[in-house]
Amino acid sequence: MSAVLVLQRPAEGQFGDGLMIVVGEHGEIDTRGPWNEGNGWVFTESPAIQAEAGASTSIVTESSSPIDETGLGELLIDELRDILHAEKQLTKALPKMAEAARFDQLRELFEQHLVETENQVERINECFELLGKTVRAKPCKGMMGLVEEGQEIMAEGEEKEDAAADLALIGAAQRVEHYEISAYTTAKNLAQQLRHSAVVALLSKSLAEEENSDQLLNQVARSLMSVARMPAAIEQAE
Ligand code: FE
Ligand code: FE
Repeated sequence: MSAVLVLQRPAEGQFGDGLMIVVGEHGEIDTRGPWNEGNGWVFTESPAIQAEAGASTSIVTESSSPIDETGLGELLIDELRDILHAEKQLTKALPKMAEAARFDQLRELFEQHLVETENQVERINECFELLGKTVRAKPCKGMMGLVEEGQEIMAEGEEKEDAAADLALIGAAQRVEHYEISAYTTAKNLAQQLRHSAVVALLSKSLAEEENSDQLLNQVARSLMSVARMPAAIEQAE
């Protein structure tokens, strides 16, 4: 989240000394408010800036190119580097998940998503090319944690019934998909802001695959739930 401090000096005699408006994601806040109406304007900082104790309140903009006065271009590159590392981790994790899956439907889904993931890595490389930047990954700690959790779930799954083990695996996989959906949504929105339509198109394609993968995992989970409940249903029928 970012906040921008805008200092406006109102017409003389109209408002007082000056007016501080905090412009955040959700619009503007008049920090004077009714509690001190009639007095001078109270200068305050947005919570986001207050949180950074000791940090300078001035916003430093570093423009790497003429079109990146806002820093959004740099942010997009950063997001892409993070996604690249996340996807590369998944090209290693997905074969293990496919191997651990007990039901064919789930194993095939992981195998199919591995192919998509390899294409997604290629698309990120293309994005860097389009943006004229070196292809470089940045450690994605979020995905490292999710992959580690997935490994734990696979180890624990060895002791579980087939349907329960696969349902746990789906839980781990859906966490991954949702994480990727967030990352691609952020990157796509940034690319849209920067009017990089070719990059937007590439990111949209990967985003659609992640959303589709999440939906397919949901469908497999639903059918596995009925498999898991089957013994009870049979007992009831007897
Ligand atoms: Fe992916
Ligand atoms: Fe994915």
